[in-house]
Amino acid sequence: MEDRGAERIAEFIEPLRVRPGSTVRLERDFDPRDKGGLRKREGVELLRSGVELLAEYQQRLAAQDTYGVLMCLQALDAGGKDGTIRHVMSGVNPQGVRVSSFKVPSAEELGHDYLWRYARRLPARGDIAIFNRSHYEEVLVVRVHPELLVRQRLPGLVEGAKFWKQRYREINHWERYLTDNGFRVVKIFLNLSKEEQRTRFLKRLDLPEKNWKFSAADVRERRYWDDYQHAFSEMLSATSTRWAPWYVVPADHKWYARVCTAAVLAHTLMDIDPQYPKVAKAARKELLVAKRNLEREAPEGRPADPYAARHTTADGRKRR
Ligand code: ATP
Ligand code: MG
Repeated sequence: MEDRGAERIAEFIEPLRVRPGSTVRLERDFDPRDKGGLRKREGVELLRSGVELLAEYQQRLAAQDTYGVLMCLQALDAGGKDGTIRHVMSGVNPQGVRVSSFKVPSAEELGHDYLWRYARRLPARGDIAIFNRSHYEEVLVVRVHPELLVRQRLPGLVEGAKFWKQRYREINHWERYLTDNGFRVVKIFLNLSKEEQRTRFLKRLDLPEKNWKFSAADVRERRYWDDYQHAFSEMLSATSTRWAPWYVVPADHKWYARVCTAAVLAHTLMDIDPQYPKVAKAARKELLVAKRNLEREAPEGRPADPYAARHTTADGRKRR
């Protein structure tokens, strides 16, 4: 049953995966309006079961305490990162998840190598970390606005294709290192169309309760749309690897973006397939001794083990 589910999820997300080594041209290769042939009602239902699945797997991930998962979310403004995180992670235990948002780097952050601030927010074993924007900003906003590099005070040549190639290589190596050490990197790009971005900005202006979300800077950044499409295409081509592939999620329909994101994360967790630790024989003996001691403490008239009494039938079978 579980295997069939895993297979179905793998098939569902396959068209979103950027094949390592392929050359991506976003506008040509991925349609932001795609709904995968689903209706919204079906999508919402799928998301509900996805959220349950994630909750179960997260518990196992935490119990096994061997692997960690890092999910990076990239999108243009109004791409729906916040809502996606809220919905996809709605069922998981907050103790096992940490969301980090990355904005313009601070003076302290700029005093370090560019991966430093991201490394500080990596997950521990057993945890899921979510990056709302990520180290990929270093090859996106920084590539579109290379003047930002001045503040990074880098030695040597910091321009041209060679420089960006070096950054992609460093990022790939860093993710390889993390993967080899038990930390899986899941990368999602919420792919929004220019027209849908315009609609969402206008909605923020039209509805008073959305006004706080509107930023004139976002509209200014929209002028660089084509440069961003190019930077995203280059990034997807250079950094979708066997160990950490990119998934391009159509984002014009929020409900569909959420289903896809949940499916990609579930796929990773199912692939890890974390198991609850088995208690060793010696430790089991200790548990039995503790059980007997507690049973001896039962007051007059109370069952030796109230929990077992409640949950087993007279002939010793588990009650459902
Ligand atoms: P929201 O608008 O939903 O609160 P957001 O992620 O857009 O979320 P903002 O504070 O609006 O947050 O924007 C953060 C800005 O920081 C973005 O414009 C992003 O490009 C910029 N940024 C992130 N990382 C870097 C970086 N390494 N160098 C320069 N700018 C960066
Ligand atoms: Mg913003």
